[in-house]
Amino acid sequence: MAPQVDAARLWRRLGEMAEIGATPGGGVHRLALSDEDRLGRDLFRSWCDAAGLETSIDALGNMFARRAGTQADAPPVLIGSHLDSQPMGGRFDGALGVLAALEVVETLNDEGVTTRYPIEVVNWTNEEGSRFPPAMVSSGVFAGVFGLDYALELADASGRTMGGELERIGYAGPDSVGGRNIKASFELHIEQGPLLELAGATIGVVTGVQGARWYDVRIAGVGTHAGPVPMSQRRDPVRGTARIVDRLFEIVQEFDDDARLAVGEIRPHPGSRNTVPGHVDFTVDMRHPVDFALSDLDAELRVLVAEVTQEMELDGHVEQIWHSPTVNFASECVDAVRTATEGFGYEGMDVFSGAGHDSVYLQRICPTAMIFIPCEGGVSHAESESITPEDAGSGANVLLHAALELAGPHR
Ligand SMILES: [Zn+2]
Repeated sequence: MAPQVDAARLWRRLGEMAEIGATPGGGVHRLALSDEDRLGRDLFRSWCDAAGLETSIDALGNMFARRAGTQADAPPVLIGSHLDSQPMGGRFDGALGVLAALEVVETLNDEGVTTRYPIEVVNWTNEEGSRFPPAMVSSGVFAGVFGLDYALELADASGRTMGGELERIGYAGPDSVGGRNIKASFELHIEQGPLLELAGATIGVVTGVQGARWYDVRIAGVGTHAGPVPMSQRRDPVRGTARIVDRLFEIVQEFDDDARLAVGEIRPHPGSRNTVPGHVDFTVDMRHPVDFALSDLDAELRVLVAEVTQEMELDGHVEQIWHSPTVNFASECVDAVRTATEGFGYEGMDVFSGAGHDSVYLQRICPTAMIFIPCEGGVSHAESESITPEDAGSGANVLLHAALELAGPHR
């Protein structure tokens, strides 16, 4: 099927981007709005300039590199993902989607293909949310889910804000965030799970994204010296935390096969080896493709914390800091992905995303879909994250033809 992307050029650029924030284990450490993020943005920007694209930057540092269409004032088709990474993360999560989108417009340039609607290659700021929680915040503001000030005031662990860091790295742009018409949106991404690999499929036709809830939980007891106080006299929040976390894993595992739980951070305070901590903070991330099931899990968590803290004479506090409901992508975009997959003769399968993506928020304001390619062992958010050049090229080809379908080739 013509046109086709230059898979070698895409792979070369993925390698160049991965040198920025490269880690010894072969991954990248390119946290949102860090110096490494700035360098990654600069490199991306230089490629967009060389491709003749017009790049604009909004107040949250979201970058839009535009290839004009033939119809004046037509809304753009957005294609892209994010260039920030997890701490010690992988080189393909996000970067693949941005650089494959750039490869799409390079291919259109090379082949002299014009489209009716403009195509914009986008790099969303702070998709990961690991430095500035929550995740996907800038696409969220773009889609009207959060206010701009809320995002600008988000702070990292050292108290630095997104607004301040955007200024510091020179990516606080002049454009307002969102509030414009978008024709459609596509995002190519690694699957971050094992289903495609297990099925021997090349392309995941993503029909939706499962819901997620994030919590901050605090278990408070009485801090004291590790030695003098008898065990029976202690109100130790670590013991309560251990019991809650262990039972919560049992609850989620027994709930059904689709329920997911991660406890990614556990912090005793003050954090000293010869001190019983006064309190423990930990995070909970629960997911499910069905919204009411996730509501049930929410209730289970709250009851569990109440029960355990009562029986152990501790104080428990559960705060939900984020809720992303289940998303179903637009059929016109999903169909475009499926048609492109079949056109190339790639082995495709319908999948539901287990991870959140910027596309979750884009779907609120425009028809949206995603394309997955396999990653080795389903591993992501780790230095060992790995894909093949062939799969990257296949994914970019599907992105190209799905975007062309919605951007309307000028005949
Ligand atoms: Zn990602």
